[in-house]
Amino acid sequence: MYKLLPLALLALAMTTESASPVAIVIHGGAGRMVKAKLTPARQKEYHTTLEASLRAGHAILKKSGSSLDAVQAAIIVMEDSPLFNAGKGAVFTSEGRNELDASLMDGRTLEAGAVGGVTTLKNPILAARAVMDHTPHVLLTNQGAEAFAKNMRLELVKPNYFYTDHRWRQLQEWKKKKAEGKNTFLDGKHADYFGTVGCVALDAKGNIAAGTSTGGLTGKQFGRIGDSPIIGAGTYANNKTCGISCTGHGEYFIRYAVAHDISAHMEYKNSTLAEAARDIVQIKLKKAKGSGGIIGLDAKGNIVMEFNTPAMNRGSIDKNGKLTTGIFK
Ligand code: ASP
Repeated sequence: MYKLLPLALLALAMTTESASPVAIVIHGGAGRMVKAKLTPARQKEYHTTLEASLRAGHAILKKSGSSLDAVQAAIIVMEDSPLFNAGKGAVFTSEGRNELDASLMDGRTLEAGAVGGVTTLKNPILAARAVMDHTPHVLLTNQGAEAFAKNMRLELVKPNYFYTDHRWRQLQEWKKKKAEGKNTFLDGKHADYFGTVGCVALDAKGNIAAGTSTGGLTGKQFGRIGDSPIIGAGTYANNKTCGISCTGHGEYFIRYAVAHDISAHMEYKNSTLAEAARDIVQIKLKKAKGSGGIIGLDAKGNIVMEFNTPAMNRGSIDKNGKLTTGIFK
């Protein structure tokens, strides 16, 4: 009897676990990154930080925390790392400033929060969360978002906190190319949009959340807002279908309402997540010359990481606890 009890408890724990799996998937930006340009040491740094981000989110899910908290925790790790184009290490606008966008969506309630064009918020994802939790609105921008974040006592930094030499050099290269009339992001071939971050998580209650955070595109025009803080474009979550976070040439993701379109394919066409993601990223977007990728998961914990660029920083811990990270195809 005494010996059987622990076994019974173990069996119960196992059934509970398989009945309500937890899973997490992240991206750290898609783009035309070529292997030769990324030293092995740099690749290792990406893998290590992707893993730290996944583990931060997964630890919350394992303790029965919410998918919203897990997404937030995973994104903060990448916002704080200078490797990624979000928070510290964000890319520069054509005027040499950092303007950050972020969003978060709750698949249980379809509530969402977002900020656009912020310049002094250390972790824009926390401001997105606060917009969702403490205002009747979805998207706040510029000084309005910053005044609100200040009231919420979120951490503010001087704009030069976001500066990194690497991103500054990218802006100088961008300016040179532009002056020579060469490729910039406008033709979809620009190499430098690599590093936006995003996360989608499924918690033990079956709730899906998705979030995205970015500095946007190198050389973007002052005031330009990308897809990342636009619900339905860069981020979407619905427990009935899936959660999605996008990365790539944002104007296309806005025009094609990519994140919501994947969810809509599942809802109205009965597509699986994998089919919907493939159709939209590899066929619809590619045909339109929209480059980038998406990550997502569905209510059963099935994970997708689909991109039409040579590389996408990515990683997941699946419903069986298996961790993987990757950069190139
Ligand atoms: N989608 C982002 C934007 O257009 C950039 C990126 O994902 O790299 O702002």
